[in-house]
Amino acid sequence: MPELAPFDVLVVGGGPAGATAAHDLARGGRQVALLDRAGRIKPCGGAIPPRLIQDFEIPDSQLVAKIDGARMVSPSNRRVDMPIDGGYVGMVDRATFDEWLRERAAGAGAVRLTGSFEELTREGGGASVRYRRADGSEGRVRARAVIGADGANSAVARQCIPGAGDTPFVAAYHEIVRSPPDGAGDFAATRCDVWYQGEVSPDFYGWVFPHGPTTSVGVGSARKGFSLRSATAELRRRAGLDGLETVRREGAPIPLKPLKRWDDGRRVLVAGDAAGVVAPASGEGIYYAMASARLAASAVDEFLATGDARILGTARRRFMAEHGRVFWVLGLLQYFWYSSDRRRERFVKMCEDPDVQRLTWQAYMHKRLVRRDPLAHLRVFVKDTAHLLGLART
Ligand SMILES: Cc1cc2nc3c(=O)[nH]c(=O)nc-3n(C[C@H](O)[C@H](O)[C@H](O)COP(=O)(O)OP(=O)(O)OC[C@H]3O[C@@H](n4cnc5c(N)ncnc54)[C@H](O)[C@@H]3O)c2cc1C
Repeated sequence: MPELAPFDVLVVGGGPAGATAAHDLARGGRQVALLDRAGRIKPCGGAIPPRLIQDFEIPDSQLVAKIDGARMVSPSNRRVDMPIDGGYVGMVDRATFDEWLRERAAGAGAVRLTGSFEELTREGGGASVRYRRADGSEGRVRARAVIGADGANSAVARQCIPGAGDTPFVAAYHEIVRSPPDGAGDFAATRCDVWYQGEVSPDFYGWVFPHGPTTSVGVGSARKGFSLRSATAELRRRAGLDGLETVRREGAPIPLKPLKRWDDGRRVLVAGDAAGVVAPASGEGIYYAMASARLAASAVDEFLATGDARILGTARRRFMAEHGRVFWVLGLLQYFWYSSDRRRERFVKMCEDPDVQRLTWQAYMHKRLVRRDPLAHLRVFVKDTAHLLGLART
């Protein structure tokens, strides 16, 4: 097959990050190719915040459920409900959501290629990429710049970005089950349940996320040797979901630290899971994948206009300026509160606090640490410290 004419940008990976970068660049008039290997549904709980729905213009038709609250379950089975006061969390089905995003990029002019990235060679003023199609044949595509959005095990990052491959991961696994009727046992079709119990996860959490006709039940852990499958079976038993039909079983790593560099200083930039941008403690990655991809697209666009490769570094700097503090706070939260059942118990107890609930939802829904309410922050800080020191009663 003849080699394609050079593109301005090749985006490798058509998940939320890659499809967003391809869409933004094509909409801005760039010649874009979007290479995705296809054929695998990304294992994911599919929860997305209103900020994402708004910023990335996601239509209501993509939401398979709207969540109006969360339930935190402690080691002693204390259940703390955290209702959302106005608004909702959207749930997407990654089989249809990702394809919709890729088609939107194609609608804006991106050329879709199907195959698996193998090797990138820098040559002259561009890069040449070799990929493998599903029928075994080889494809080649040339571009002036490349965005690697090929997920947590990014081959683009490993080949091109110094320091990639050292990222700490949580291994996550879930089972997609046929949803029970709303209200059956402990199950609610519009509530996400988060389980903080050492036997479910010794260092992260377990979840029950309803998606309309199906529900994602899973656990994450960074601990070597911890059996995610057995823990999920135990979680299903505890949540009363063990008798349900299992539709799929699947797992994937969740990176927990942004890479120190996202670009190669020449013409390659990574975004999304490939850049390690998933929020610690929550494992939320879809919004951050799309936000980082938008910044990557903007940096690449400017690089193409000026030829100045230093501009590629602005994507990471702008991302960290906006989200670095939240990542840092969530990293501390995970490190401290997820480390023992005693602490998990206190953590869930703390979630009863109306200030904690309000600030948590505001931060999640709108991706901003709310500064308007300093007294609430102070109250949370004092209570948090009391819990840390063991002065508060559980
Ligand atoms: C079990 C689990 C539950 C999760 N739940 C949530 C949740 O509820 N909410 C949330 O916000 N986040 C969640 N996350 C995190 C979220 O799924 C990721 O952060 C997000 O998908 C990252 O998007 P991405 O586009 O960077 O990467 P991905 O979604 O992984 O997309 C990468 C794309 O690249 C393609 N690709 C990979 N390798 C190649 C190659 N060699 N050649 C060509 N194409 C390639 C893949 O086919 C894929 O389409 C969860 C993660 C896991 C594992």
